Amino acid sequence: MTYDVAVIGAGIVGAAVAYRLREAWPEARLLVIEKEPHPAAHQTGRNSGVIHSGIYYKPGSLKATLCAQGREELYDFAQTWHIPHERCGKLIVATTPEELPRLKALYARGLENQIPGIRLLSEDDIPPYEPYCRGVGAIYVPVTGIIDYRAVTARLLEQSKATVVFSAPLKGLVPQREGYLIYAGNGSYESRYLIACAGLQADRVARLDGLRPPLRIVPFRGDYYELRPESRYKVRNLIYPLPHPTYPVLGVHLTRMVDGSVEAGPNAVFAWAREIYSRTGFNLRDTIEALTFKGTWRFFFKHWREGLMEYRRAFSKRLFWESLRRLVPALQIEDLVPARSGIRALALTPEGTFWDDFYFVARERSLHVLNAPSPAATAALALGRAIVQKAFSTWNLSSPVSTTGR
Ligand SMILES: Cc1cc2nc3c(=O)[nH]c(=O)nc-3n(C[C@H](O)[C@H](O)[C@H](O)COP(=O)(O)OP(=O)(O)OC[C@H]3O[C@@H](n4cnc5c(N)ncnc54)[C@H](O)[C@@H]3O)c2cc1C
Repeated sequence: MTYDVAVIGAGIVGAAVAYRLREAWPEARLLVIEKEPHPAAHQTGRNSGVIHSGIYYKPGSLKATLCAQGREELYDFAQTWHIPHERCGKLIVATTPEELPRLKALYARGLENQIPGIRLLSEDDIPPYEPYCRGVGAIYVPVTGIIDYRAVTARLLEQSKATVVFSAPLKGLVPQREGYLIYAGNGSYESRYLIACAGLQADRVARLDGLRPPLRIVPFRGDYYELRPESRYKVRNLIYPLPHPTYPVLGVHLTRMVDGSVEAGPNAVFAWAREIYSRTGFNLRDTIEALTFKGTWRFFFKHWREGLMEYRRAFSKRLFWESLRRLVPALQIEDLVPARSGIRALALTPEGTFWDDFYFVARERSLHVLNAPSPAATAALALGRAIVQKAFSTWNLSSPVSTTGR
């Protein structure tokens, strides 16, 4: 059987692409190939579960526009399919007077990004929102929410009506006159077009398709702690610090999850493996590829202070607690219990800068998503649509098209 489009990867981006493909091409024969035994096994299933507002991103960037669009589409989708979620709002908190100018600049960016309902709060305005949080000022962002991204991914896949093959790592792509012969797991598949959404493996999958991507994926692990159930009352919703001005993270934050638990984290440390989640996880190929890339060393050189701090904090519960206590002084070190980890795919250029926007490259019969960092889960429905539109315009397909139409 020849498929019309094969999607590599059943994270939320691959699932949203399959869902949007079904809308654009109702009769298409769609295939999704996933190397793990279930969807959302990596970044999607191990993220913070936050529906981001879009306040942080550079106005006019893909991140800013697709996050705002995708956020509202995600709320609608969750409502339609009864997926656990809540539009609970969040606080971004300045903890020292020196941070106030940055807080105001972020608020101005939020206005420029047209984030609905944001409010600048004084020190005294904070307790009604978060009784145990202390700061010299804060931004209240009412459209931020929480959701179960695994459930979203599973529902998107189901609604795409694609054939989904699990436990089938992509091994080879052989271009043919009218598409690809795809080797994955123990099988081979034919497809006329291909869209790769491989997250932490995006650069490798692109290389299998003969591309020489300018970016290298370098893994950065994020560890979480959880609050003991008796201490959850200290956090009502979401409490974030100001994001670091140059390091690509939002800072360890406190997040209520849809199941009622409260998580603290994640930090961001260089990881010795792309898909091993323990603090000491090591993979030789991943490490060699990261450390033989000059962009990694340039990144380390630029950010050695932050990197060192993150590394110390990864092995010191006390340092982790001290970061959180700046936001919620009532937190005790015993309130924190070590929990899970996630790994981010950081796309680095050879110059050692991180690629700060979504990035996909379309070719004659394929499209590769080379960078889909946060807020890609929030943005997934809009991002999936943008990817399908880009693919169709490059492949010269109109929408909707029929399989016999071309
Ligand atoms: C710690 C952490 C916290 C985050 N918090 C948030 C948040 O709160 N809100 C938010 O919006 N975003 C958040 N993000 C970002 C968000 O989770 C990611 O941007 C998003 O999940 C990316 O989805 P994806 O489908 O591209 O990647 P993934 O979820 O990693 O999926 C890629 C899939 O491709 C498969 N694959 C890879 N290679 C192959 C192969 N060779 N053959 C077959 N299959 C393959 C993988 O197994 C995987 O299932 C967070 C990320 C992390 C790591």
